[in-house]
Amino acid sequence: MAAIYTAPLTRFPRGLKIHGLNLNIECNAELSKRAGDARPTNRRPGTITSSTSRKMLEQNTVCQAATEVRSELDPDPNADLRQGIADFYDASSEVWEEIWGEHMHHGFYDVSAQDVSLCDHRAAQMRMIEETLSFAAVPGEDESKRPKSIVDVGCGIGGSSRYLATKYGATVKGITLSPLQAARANALTAAASLSNKVEFQVADALNQPFPDGQFDLVWSMESGEHMPDKEKFMKELVRVAAPGGFIIIVTWCHRDLLPGEVSLKPSEQELLDKICKAYYLPAWCSPSDYVKLAQASSLQDIKTADWSDNVAPFWPAVIRSAFSWRAIAGVLRSGWKTLKGAFAMTLMVKGYKQGLIKFAVITARKPA
Ligand code: SAH
Repeated sequence: MAAIYTAPLTRFPRGLKIHGLNLNIECNAELSKRAGDARPTNRRPGTITSSTSRKMLEQNTVCQAATEVRSELDPDPNADLRQGIADFYDASSEVWEEIWGEHMHHGFYDVSAQDVSLCDHRAAQMRMIEETLSFAAVPGEDESKRPKSIVDVGCGIGGSSRYLATKYGATVKGITLSPLQAARANALTAAASLSNKVEFQVADALNQPFPDGQFDLVWSMESGEHMPDKEKFMKELVRVAAPGGFIIIVTWCHRDLLPGEVSLKPSEQELLDKICKAYYLPAWCSPSDYVKLAQASSLQDIKTADWSDNVAPFWPAVIRSAFSWRAIAGVLRSGWKTLKGAFAMTLMVKGYKQGLIKFAVITARKPA
């Protein structure tokens, strides 16, 4: 599930704040200079506000200069993105949980499903987990072959983690960027008397706080779309997997390119750009891109499927639920970021309808 994107190109990375106002002034001046405007500025750190700057922003010069300044001064160009994702989930998780419960991902439906109720949607979210496990052929019957240790990468408030821990009797570690989610996930886990098996912490999927070869099952349910570096993401998933372990990614992709195509059509890219601006998402990739990354990591049993038709009833249902009084109150309470995301949902529906957005599952095994 995606988070809202709040125009990070107009803000400097957080790291700069450590150096204080002077550095920010210097950076703004540097930006202006590069963009052909020598006036120094003393604006609020990290914000480009003058009409000149705004005009320049419209041209690519400032964006380019900002990127250059950013990479010169900030060793981690993804810091802003990570913070934005954390802020979004801190703000919106409560209202989501109130309406949709502990699973923050699509439901899986029969392709012919129509007129389904909110109860059906919640059941469909759990079905998504079951369909995914069975697609990956994770053993459930034979106790000796069940996964015993699991990592839930991008765990939300831990719905999948608790489900998997209970199903397999496994220990589960969940990571999320959102401190509020990690705290809520731990609280829900304590309430379910699972704290001896399941625990959550704030950590980055691209730099996981786990030793190599630790987990029999590496689970990423709708977090891959947030990852700015898919190659690093895949490498981390593979690194923490135990030999013979399962790696499961369920994620939003754009369609595979057709033979002879080198990029998406401009109108398609435009729609994705709008979604990226509305949500906290970096560049998208296709299911084939994930398969190539899995192959490059020498994974085995690589499988992928397009479940776009199976999730089709989901977004319309979310949109409908967003217009209930309870949801409107919750969305307003949780602020502008959540509100913006609620409006952007129609873009997702459009993307699915056009065949541009794909809901993909990619599973594989690390060689034993
Ligand atoms: N898998 C959960 C939540 C999906 S929402 C579920 O199905 O219920 C996306 C989650 O990905 C959020 O918890 C967000 O914090 C997490 N996420 C996004 N980027 C991340 C990163 N770089 N490292 C760790 N978690 C990340």
